[in-house]
Amino acid sequence: MEAFNTKIPDGPLFQKWTKYKSSVRLINPANRKKIEIIVVGTGLSGASAASALGELGYRVKSFCYQDSPRRAHSVAAQGGINAAKNYRNDGDSVFRLFYDMIKGGDFRAREANVYRAAEVSNQVIDHFTALGVPFARDYGGTLDTRSFGGVQVSRTFYSKGQTGQQCLLGAYSSLNRQISRGNVIMYPRREVLDLVLVEGKARGVIARNLITGETERHGAHAVVLATGGYGTIYYLSTLAINSNASAAWKAYKKGAFFANPSFIQIHPTSIPQLNKFQSKLTLMSESLRNDGRIWVPAKKGDKRLANDIPEEERDYYLERRYPAFGNLVPRDVASRAAKERCDAGYGVGDTGLAVYLDFRDAIKARGIKTIQDRYGNLFDMYKTITGINPCEEPMRIYPAGHYTMGGLWVDYELMTNIPGLYAIGEANFSDHGANRLGASSLMQAAGDGYFILPITIGNYLVDEIKELLISTDSKEFADAEKEVIGRLEKLLMIKGKQTASSFHKRLGEIMWNYCGMIRNKKGLEKGLSLVRDLKDEFWKDLNVPGTYKELNMELEKAGRVADYLDFAQLLITDALRRNESCGAHFREEYQTSEGEALRNDEEYAYVAAWEYAGEDKEPVLHREYLKYEEVEPKVRSYK
Ligand SMILES: Cc1cc2nc3c(=O)[nH]c(=O)nc-3n(C[C@H](O)[C@H](O)[C@H](O)COP(=O)(O)OP(=O)(O)OC[C@H]3O[C@@H](n4cnc5c(N)ncnc54)[C@H](O)[C@@H]3O)c2cc1C
Repeated sequence: MEAFNTKIPDGPLFQKWTKYKSSVRLINPANRKKIEIIVVGTGLSGASAASALGELGYRVKSFCYQDSPRRAHSVAAQGGINAAKNYRNDGDSVFRLFYDMIKGGDFRAREANVYRAAEVSNQVIDHFTALGVPFARDYGGTLDTRSFGGVQVSRTFYSKGQTGQQCLLGAYSSLNRQISRGNVIMYPRREVLDLVLVEGKARGVIARNLITGETERHGAHAVVLATGGYGTIYYLSTLAINSNASAAWKAYKKGAFFANPSFIQIHPTSIPQLNKFQSKLTLMSESLRNDGRIWVPAKKGDKRLANDIPEEERDYYLERRYPAFGNLVPRDVASRAAKERCDAGYGVGDTGLAVYLDFRDAIKARGIKTIQDRYGNLFDMYKTITGINPCEEPMRIYPAGHYTMGGLWVDYELMTNIPGLYAIGEANFSDHGANRLGASSLMQAAGDGYFILPITIGNYLVDEIKELLISTDSKEFADAEKEVIGRLEKLLMIKGKQTASSFHKRLGEIMWNYCGMIRNKKGLEKGLSLVRDLKDEFWKDLNVPGTYKELNMELEKAGRVADYLDFAQLLITDALRRNESCGAHFREEYQTSEGEALRNDEEYAYVAAWEYAGEDKEPVLHREYLKYEEVEPKVRSYK
């Protein structure tokens, strides 16, 4: 028997959400005022959820660790946001978007959730347009689109290379509206350090005020985690440096299942690492692959400058290997292909760990102004970092850790297996299976927050109306707070010699080398043992100066790294137990003769949902078997 209920409604795929919405139990407006909801996170998912719930009349408490909600990581998203509007009349539809996502995720996502994400995508674009998000427009004034990887239509709406920033400003303005109306109380510079359960239900959180260092108790009828992804486990990644998995990890330790933790997307077009002191990588958006062509010299070890290499001596390896999708193959495919060329000795630059992304032909065909208009801010960013003008010389790019398809397990209502605990946006295991298609995360995050959660959460809260305000004086809150303080003190008391960042960096190297783009059993086992040793060393030799009763950024980092050292073990265990290749999870042992991922649908067509079994104990695996009613899982081909 499965340990959880997915709550997928009966009936045809196309009608599930419509039927759900028309039959779900509602709470009348007068009662909504009596209900409190905590939303942790103010990225696109959290800001949209908090504002939509506030608009409905719930009493919302919103948390983020930044000084302002609008600094959440979503602000960094560049290339675009998908919707099945079919403005181009190029054959797009809700079904096609759904199918592209299911196929892109290598048939490891839940059909019903993905179809719904595709359905609400159109509402998301209408909503953002109404909020004033300045999407690019075409000659006739309607919204313009461009293409992203893994699809053959043009459905990505964009605001130059700042789509996340513009969408987040839209969501932030609706959040501010609710703050000024008193429906949302904003708690910036708060880090949620634990979840509080009362009688098995999520009833609040323990947060630390990052300015004063004091711990605080906050109660609510339900808790929503919108805390983003964990790509920073690699230390070097395209994410904001402070992104972390701690809130989700704490929820896991309280009983929430963690799904598919090893499904991590490595993005093919990051600026390569320039030196060993670097703490961050910068993404060059996938949108650039609309006009940029990827190539390496056809001759091994060719050290000539890019512009000196004639056309016939260039290998446009994506166009060669995947003629149907060319430079717009999905990210996992493009990343592995770049690694393959570099490992074979064709890489460029000093390290040989880079390939070219070249705009020469696009500039020739469409003119420099058009190309600048499309990608100007990305070009500026590239030039600032590298000193090279991409209009004159090709960019150098290399894959980097980027997005996490894994996350907290949720049912159709976006509730975890803990009653009253929800996870939305990148924090849930979401709709992307084993590989996310570009521009579908903003779509999912905003869809979850604005249009799905505000409806589904009512179905739980309707039974909670009888509960008065949740008191934080209970034993459960006191115990959780004591535990949080105890752990902060434990980190401070080690008094060793190494910083949290130095441990993070070493963890990142282990993860990248043994559980990165390409994995195998031996390497994963070695990685697991190295992480365990590193964890032991951490708890003996960490140094955190100061106290916890003050602003202490070293302490913040230490807590997050401590959680990563535990989480990394779960992640590697998940990768070890999945004896197949699918999407971004590429196990060397399971590949076709052409080097493509070899799935094993017989044994692994499931979501791996892990249950915490205690400190240093093997976690328990629950399998949610995936049933495909509308699509037939096929070998994923982009040739
Ligand atoms: C460089 C880059 C470019 C991208 N470009 C695109 C794109 O063009 N299109 C696309 O669809 N996707 C893109 N993505 C992915 C997309 O940006 C993210 O997946 C998405 O923004 C995640 O939104 P979110 O709301 O789930 O989380 P986030 O935006 O990551 O927000 C997390 C929030 O949680 C809060 N938080 C976390 N932990 C705690 C805690 N313990 N206590 C309190 N608060 C906490 C943070 O303060 C923050 O407010 C890109 C990603 C990167 C890295």
